[in-house]
Amino acid sequence: MTQRHTLRINGERLWARLEEIGQIGATAGGGCNRQALTDEDRIGRELFASWCEQAGCSLRRDAVGNLFARREGTEPGLAPVMTGSHLDTQPSGGKYDGIYGVLAGLEVLQTLEEGALHTRHPLEVVVWTNEEGCRFDTAMMGSAVWSGAMSLEDAYALADRTGASVRDELERTGQLGDLPAVAGPVHAAFELHIEQGPVLEAERKTIGVVTGVQHMSRHRVVYYGQEAHAGPTPMTLRKDPMMALGQCLPELYAMTEQHGPDARVTFGFVHAEPGSSNTVPGRLEFTVDLRHPDAGQYQSMLQAYEAIINAAARRFDLAMEYACFWEAPGVEFDSDCVAAVQSAVDNLGYSYRRMVSGAGHDACNVSRVAPTSMIFIPCEGGLSHNEKEAVSAADVEAGANVLLQAMLVRAELDS
Ligand SMILES: [Zn+2]
Repeated sequence: MTQRHTLRINGERLWARLEEIGQIGATAGGGCNRQALTDEDRIGRELFASWCEQAGCSLRRDAVGNLFARREGTEPGLAPVMTGSHLDTQPSGGKYDGIYGVLAGLEVLQTLEEGALHTRHPLEVVVWTNEEGCRFDTAMMGSAVWSGAMSLEDAYALADRTGASVRDELERTGQLGDLPAVAGPVHAAFELHIEQGPVLEAERKTIGVVTGVQHMSRHRVVYYGQEAHAGPTPMTLRKDPMMALGQCLPELYAMTEQHGPDARVTFGFVHAEPGSSNTVPGRLEFTVDLRHPDAGQYQSMLQAYEAIINAAARRFDLAMEYACFWEAPGVEFDSDCVAAVQSAVDNLGYSYRRMVSGAGHDACNVSRVAPTSMIFIPCEGGLSHNEKEAVSAADVEAGANVLLQAMLVRAELDS
């Protein structure tokens, strides 16, 4: 057994730090309100900076406030192995979404520092600015700018409801850094995160080896019928858009089921007009959210969805409009990074499942410019973006050990 295989992080310290930083912006319901570039966010970042000092890391900040804690490698000129996530939260968020990935990364660096161990590649822990996109309305903003998906000017110009801009708030909170917000070479990147869904807990698995992120899109469908009196108008003589919806829903659910257990369909909004209980509606609008991790299956779902909604319009003699109003392409993570996580899990002996993420993460942006993958741990009831978000100390420790081992696979211990 090599040293890499026996090395473990300090789970108690990691847990204590999660609790301590969770007090900044703590809510009455046991969660956290530490939105991007508020005073609470600044205080959280200052606490993180003090821990970086204890871990013997240098800390730098870029032009969009992303923080980079760095531990040098032994071989000059090699690109870093990176990990990171976010410290900001939703207004009624939890204590672990994002924060766990950042503090676990720091724990990895501190573990190596205390063991006087060195890697050939440098190691970096990143705090991405404004991942949540609740105060400033663009999620994953810091990693988007850094990876070139968004311009710095567009990020600076985002404003909150009071009119305060990202640029102003970066300056006010002392987070405007001197590094250019542009990705340099990265050897490999990992993001450790809570699952934010119920699958790992339901299957009693400790680790999610995340192979990619779902393809997803949202669509709006409007059927136009004819308003008519609910009494005198026979069923056969109506132009009733609700009948079309009644045909679509079971067909779309069945179609989704045919695309396997990873397919998703959600009807989150349905609105009939005029909205009177004794009038056949003249207009019916609903949304369809479609997701699948496999590109081919996802395309097949899109085609089937279109055929179903069109067939219903024809059958009930309705005019219709439909359009896609949001689409996010899926991500397939780097096979070497996924293999590094898999070998870490195998070595540590934790139960696991391979899975795709149903939510977007900073890692999606990072994967545009660097070999990347993710690691999940379970969260209670799958709850996230919720004050009741909860995790177990054992899972927290296990996930951080997987991160440690995976990073060492790619960064190479120098003996
Ligand atoms: Zn997150």
